[in-house]
Amino acid sequence: MTQMRPSSDIAYLCRALKAPSMARAVDRLAQRARQEEWSHEEFLAACLEREVAARQTNGGELRIKAARFPARKTIEDFDFSFQRSLHRDTLLHLGALDFVAGRDNVVFLGPPGTGKTHLAIGLGIRACQAGHRVAFATATDWVTRLAEAHTAGRLGDELTRLGRIPLLIVDEVGYIPFEAEAANLFFQLVSARYERASVIVTSNKPFSRWGEVFGDPVVAAAMIDRLVHHAEVVSLKGDSYRLKDRDLRRMPTDNTE
Ligand code: ADP
Ligand code: MG
Repeated sequence: MTQMRPSSDIAYLCRALKAPSMARAVDRLAQRARQEEWSHEEFLAACLEREVAARQTNGGELRIKAARFPARKTIEDFDFSFQRSLHRDTLLHLGALDFVAGRDNVVFLGPPGTGKTHLAIGLGIRACQAGHRVAFATATDWVTRLAEAHTAGRLGDELTRLGRIPLLIVDEVGYIPFEAEAANLFFQLVSARYERASVIVTSNKPFSRWGEVFGDPVVAAAMIDRLVHHAEVVSLKGDSYRLKDRDLRRMPTDNTE
């Protein structure tokens, strides 16, 4: 490195390191460092911090894209005054994501429009931002994917691959009943992840009706057993949020069963 042209050297070196955010920040940070008399170490730390912060943010965005959420919903947007059956503490606790580290599950149950998908996405986005990989799909989509892998003779590989994703979200269990083969594939997915990696499941059907969904009460019971052994089960109640503006005279707390 020549002593003569540090700026262009820095620009070149940042490119070589693939550190564009640091490259952009260096001049401004150097100016502040001179004004505020930072030590060399402080200046270096400030430069590196810029790059690390940018990577963490971008990494979160990349993971959010890769997760294929159907919409962007956050926990902060969730209106607790409308959904009284959910305690804010429960959600804050889940939002701290200990369940991902603990390989536990979360199940959201409740009628349509009560916020199940919203909450599942909100937790998923949190997890992405915290550095976890997440994959979102409906139960039907997961089963289709597994059936394709099964047909191609690589179901085991696919389950192993999915096992490396710390959080899978399975939305809308119960809207469409499963064929026996689909129920079996879904059971394998839940079993493969049991105590190894987390799942968030949403369903409009109470567990007592999962026998109908899976066409087999024994398979359903075995699945529920694995799913809820280490899980937070959140039952949402009330009217559909989608319909809330249709009848403004009705108070949100009315009619919660
Ligand atoms: P579900 O999956 O239970 O059928 P959704 O999560 O899809 O319901 O919610 C339906 C719509 O209403 C979504 O646009 C969601 O963001 C919104 N919604 C539901 N409950 C709430 C709430 N308590 N606060 C804010 N938005 C909500
Ligand atoms: Mg939904």
